[in-house]
Amino acid sequence: MPFYDYQAPEGVEGCPHCREGFEVRQNMSDERLTRCPECGGEVQRIITGVNVVRSLWRSENLTPERLKRSGFKKLVKDDDGRYVDATPK
Ligand SMILES: [Zn+2]
Repeated sequence: MPFYDYQAPEGVEGCPHCREGFEVRQNMSDERLTRCPECGGEVQRIITGVNVVRSLWRSENLTPERLKRSGFKKLVKDDDGRYVDATPK
């Protein structure tokens, strides 16, 4: 089951719990939370970097150009076992 991050949106004071953001384990099919379980204030689901990376790697059309556009570097291991930046310039 994936984790989802929730946080009080900008402008909502919330409580320490939701101001900092919190993780909830949910099924993909579960309804997303709209209220903080602590204070009942408004929260929104935030997309974490991890999820973005995962969806990128799932892509079948993962090309160096797309990596570069997304701000990633392509690292290639050379014969000496060092990683060399092979991102297209
Ligand atoms: Zn709260």
